[in-house]
Amino acid sequence: MVDDPKAQAIEVLRRLKAEYPDAHIVLDYGNRWELLVAVILSAQCTDKKVNEVTAKLFEKYPTVEDYAGANLAELEAAVRPTGFYHNKAKHILASARQILADFGGEVPTTMAELLTLPGVARKTANVVLGNADPEAFAKDPDAGIAVDTHVNRLSQRLGLVTSSDSEKIETQLLAIVPRDDWFRLTYLFIEHGRAICTGQRPRCVDCVLQDICPSAFTFGTPAARDKAAAAPKRGAGPKPPSHPRDATRATAKPRPQAQSWARSVHGRRGGRSG
Ligand code: SF4
Repeated sequence: MVDDPKAQAIEVLRRLKAEYPDAHIVLDYGNRWELLVAVILSAQCTDKKVNEVTAKLFEKYPTVEDYAGANLAELEAAVRPTGFYHNKAKHILASARQILADFGGEVPTTMAELLTLPGVARKTANVVLGNADPEAFAKDPDAGIAVDTHVNRLSQRLGLVTSSDSEKIETQLLAIVPRDDWFRLTYLFIEHGRAICTGQRPRCVDCVLQDICPSAFTFGTPAARDKAAAAPKRGAGPKPPSHPRDATRATAKPRPQAQSWARSVHGRRGGRSG
């Protein structure tokens, strides 16, 4: 365990960057507006389900104007599988109208403006700005770290923060994480949270952070903890693949790097910037 929180954060990030070099957003979108819609829909929902829903949604409503003029009940039905669909549909429709009325039909590119949109809090604004406009994100005085459920959980387990409140967690992380890593931290923690440090059964024995993590081997029954602690530690010798992804990692081609904004805009929908 590294005593200094800043040093702990830097070491955690160094190891996770090596472990997940291409960590990036997995929501599908074709432009800045669709990214905003997808992020709003992702609240309390898996990215996989959101991508299933948006595949049809983005076909049915191709432009911001289509959402602004949508029938609310129809929009609710379209986003219903993502849960909390009354509020999500209401926020999407109201955001589309505000973007047309106040921002010339373009999703704004500052945190302050994004935060004026209905249903957009700091997590959503950070995700949208960081992915859609990395240069604007890097300069924005209000930019920060998107704290989702994985960032919340891992930050606590790794001893980086002293709160379970997402707003306080963001504030505490901003004080110890180098600014250049604010955006990337979210996707590194999401990858590690999904693959290893899961909510219910973290696989500490397979974790690259086990020797610096204050929560390592503290989960489950005493017998389970003893068994985990006695198991061969990572790096102590060859270990069998413990995760489906590990089994393919050695032979798989590297995934493409995080999709650039230009690629996502100009790929699927020919550069529409709505
Ligand atoms: S050692 Fe265990 S609790 Fe700590 S980050 Fe790794 S999986 Fe999570």
